[in-house]
Amino acid sequence: MIQWNEHLINGTRRRVSDGRTVRILDAATEAPRGDVHLGNAADVEDAVAVARLALPGWQRIGVDARAALLRAMADALEGMGQDLARDISREVGMPLKLSQRIQVDAPVAAWRATAALAETFPFVSEAGNSRITLVPVGVVAAITPWNYPLHQITGKLAPALLAGCTVVLKPSELAPAASACLMAACEQAGLPPGVLNIVQGDAEVGQALATHPDVQMVSFTGSTAVGRKVAAQAAGDMKRVSMELGGKSAAVVLPGADLARAIKATVASCFLNSGQTCSAITRLIVPRQDYPACRALLAEAAAGMVMGDPADAATRIGPLLSALQRERVLAHIADAEQAGFDRIAGGPDALVPARGHFVAPTIYGNVAPDSRLAQEEIFGPVLAALCYDTVEEAIALANGTRYGLAAAVWAADDAAGEAVANALRAGQVDVNGARFNAAAPFGGFGMSGVGREGGIHGLEEFLEPRAVQLPR
Ligand code: NAD
Repeated sequence: MIQWNEHLINGTRRRVSDGRTVRILDAATEAPRGDVHLGNAADVEDAVAVARLALPGWQRIGVDARAALLRAMADALEGMGQDLARDISREVGMPLKLSQRIQVDAPVAAWRATAALAETFPFVSEAGNSRITLVPVGVVAAITPWNYPLHQITGKLAPALLAGCTVVLKPSELAPAASACLMAACEQAGLPPGVLNIVQGDAEVGQALATHPDVQMVSFTGSTAVGRKVAAQAAGDMKRVSMELGGKSAAVVLPGADLARAIKATVASCFLNSGQTCSAITRLIVPRQDYPACRALLAEAAAGMVMGDPADAATRIGPLLSALQRERVLAHIADAEQAGFDRIAGGPDALVPARGHFVAPTIYGNVAPDSRLAQEEIFGPVLAALCYDTVEEAIALANGTRYGLAAAVWAADDAAGEAVANALRAGQVDVNGARFNAAAPFGGFGMSGVGREGGIHGLEEFLEPRAVQLPR
C-alpha cells in the first residue's frame, strides 16, 4: 500500500504529522491502493511563511530564468509520464490510452507553452505619460480537484510561477499521484526552495489557505458549491480570486447540420472520463423534427461505448472515481426515471461490471428544460437531449442554466454556427467540431467561475498592473 504522507515545504519533504487519512481505491477493482495523510493549518502556516520569504529572490532571477525552470519541470514530468498516466487512470477511471494523452502529455505541453510566453508577453507597456508594469500578485494558494489532477495543477502553477509568484498548492486528497510526481519534478528541476510548496489535506487545509492574511490570491478549481465558500473566505481580506467551477454545457444542433457528426462528437464529449469533466457537453439541443433520427443515432453511439477496465485497450468508458460519485450519479438517474423522460440508453438497471465504480452511459430524451437533469451538473456519464422549435428558443435553452463554461454549435455552414456561438454565454464555444486550443482562455460565465486559465489570459490572472506616471 502506498503512503502519500509528505508535504513539500521549503524544498524539503516533511512527514505529515496529523493522524487523519483518506483511503484511495482502484476505481475499477475497488482494491485499496494506499492512504493519503492529511495535513492541517499549522502546515499551511509554515508553507505560507516560506513562500513569502521566497518571493523576492524568485522575482529577482527574472522571467527567462523562471521560464527555463518551467521547461525543466516539463522534462521531469515527462520522464515520469508513463507511470503517472497509469496511476491517474487507476485513480479516476479514465482509459489508459486517453490518460497518457490528456492527463499527462497535454499538461507537460502546457508547462512548455507557458514557458514560451516569456518571449513575447508584454510585461511593460506605455499609455500616455504612464509606464505600466505587470507585477506578480504575490503568494498564491492553488486548490485543485481530482478529475484532471495534473492538468488543473498545471493551469495554475505554470503561469503563477512564470509571473514571479510563489505558490502553496493544496491538491485534491482524492487523486494523489500527480502531486507526488510534482514533488519529485521540483527536486529534479532544481526549483529554488520555497517557490512551490505542496500541503496535503482536505477542506481544513483549503480553508486555512483561503483565509491566510499572507496569501494574496486564491486560484481554485472545483465544484461551484465549494468555490462559493472559498470565494467568501478569501473576501475577508480582499484577496484576488480565480474560480474554475462546474458546468452544464450544451451542444446546439441547428437545422441542416450534420446530425451524425454532431451526435458522435456530443456523446464522446459527454462520456469522456466517464462524464467527470467540467466542460463535458451534457445537454444536446436538437430541432424537434430531427428528434427521431437523433434518438436512433444516440442509441447507436451509446452502444459503441465499450465499458470496462481502463487498462484494457478496447475500453472507451471506465468507472467513476468512487462509490460516493457513483451513488450521486445514480440518484440523478433515479430522478430522471421518476420524471418519466424518454430513456434512450443506460438507466438504473443497465448491466455494468460487478466490481468497480461503474455507471452505464445513460441518455434521456425529451428532457424538460427546468428539470434537475437539464439544470444540475451530474459529473457522470449522463446526457440530456432537449428539443426546440425555433433557433431563438435553442439559444435560450443553451443559455438557460446558471452555468456558462463551454458549448458547441453544429450548423450547415461555419458562419451560421459562429453567429449562434456569439449569442451563447459560455467561455469556450466550438463550432462544427473545431479542436481544443490550449492557448485560448478557458473559464466560465455565471456560476462556472471567475477568471480564465490558459495562454496569455491565464498568465494575466497572476499579475497586478502598476502604472507609474512620468513627467513628460
Ligand atoms: P470539490 O469542490 O469537492 O473540491 C475541490 C478542492 O477544494 C479539493 O482540493 C478539496 O479538498 C477542496 N475543498 C473542499 N472543501 C473545501 C473548503 N470548504 N474550503 C477550501 N477547500 C475545500 O471538487 P471536486 O469534487 O474535487 O472536483 C469536481 C468539481 O470540479 C466539479 O464540479 C467540476 O465541474 C469542477 N471542475 C471545474 C473545472 C474548470 O476548469 N471549470 C475543471 C475541473 C473540475
